[in-house]
Amino acid sequence: MKIICIGRNYIEHAKELNNTISSDPIFFLKPDTAIQPKGHPFFIPHHSNNVHYEVELVLKISKIGKHIEQQFAHKYYSEIGLGIDFTARDIQNICKKKGLPWEISKGFDGSAQISNEFLDKKNLVLNNINFSLTKNGDTMQNGNSKDMIFSFDYIISFISKFYTLKIGDLIYTGTPAGVGKVKKNDVLEGFVNSQKMLEVKIK
Ligand code: ZN
Repeated sequence: MKIICIGRNYIEHAKELNNTISSDPIFFLKPDTAIQPKGHPFFIPHHSNNVHYEVELVLKISKIGKHIEQQFAHKYYSEIGLGIDFTARDIQNICKKKGLPWEISKGFDGSAQISNEFLDKKNLVLNNINFSLTKNGDTMQNGNSKDMIFSFDYIISFISKFYTLKIGDLIYTGTPAGVGKVKKNDVLEGFVNSQKMLEVKIK
């Protein structure tokens, strides 16, 4: 399986990192080894002094497809989970400055946190899903799918022009404003519509 992540899909987050808004979605990959084993703590990697959390809604692909038209994209996913796209922001900034790929800042082991549970999309209003992240009990990020620049269906259609989507692939759909640094002993909790979806301890 592969993990595809959308960048800059929430205007306020793009602004907080001084990024421009692009007319097409920006996306990048994480290897499957980035998936954090269930229940494990997150170990801050040695190569970074500034790892950020980014909470994101995650689509799970349920049908193989290529060149999927937007009007049919809803048939290619049935469940939505919650994830954290851990990002070594210091390394990412160096890579950006040098015009190099970001992988080392985004794809390291444990960088893709994913909820145990996925929610059936039939039970959700897709353009009005609230999600949030707390750190040590304080809300740091609060987003709603209605604020996405690119919709779930548009994202699937766009990505599938380039990559065949396969069953089990995960798409991280972008993070709202409020990203920030983690430190040892922090506890992060993620919620969808006030339902707790994940908890991670930082080591
Ligand atoms: Zn992200």
